[in-house]
Formats: sequence, C-alpha cells, structure tokens
Amino acid sequence: MKKGIHPEYKKVKVRCACGNEFETGSVKDSLKVEVCSECHPFYTGRQKFVDKGGRVDKFKKKYGMK
Ligand SMILES: [Zn+2]
Repeated sequence: MKKGIHPEYKKVKVRCACGNEFETGSVKDSLKVEVCSECHPFYTGRQKFVDKGGRVDKFKKKYGMK
C-alpha cells in the first residue's frame, strides 16, 4: 500500500504580510500571502499608492489643464 497519493486536505494557518492570521483549508502545512481581506485595498478602501511629488500637477501642466 502506498501512502500519500491523495494529499490530505486540512486546516492550515495562513499568515499575511500585514501580520494578520487566518485559517483556511489546504494540503500544505503552512501558507503565506502578500495581502489578505484585512489589508487589501479592495476591501479596506485604503489606497496603497498615493500620489507623491505632484505628478498630477505635472500632468495637468503638460496638457494645459488648470
Ligand atoms: Zn493582510
């Protein structure tokens, strides 16, 4: 009898880059993610990338907008 042909689907802890932890089902022992529902801009409404150094102003000048 061979073992481990069918990976066991179990509950694992997922650790996000923001420090949040949650459980999900996976065949792996542990998971790491870059974003989760706690820190993803789509869910939080927060914007990760802000306009620095007035890029919008430069854009407006370039196209003659005021
Ligand atoms: Zn997160």
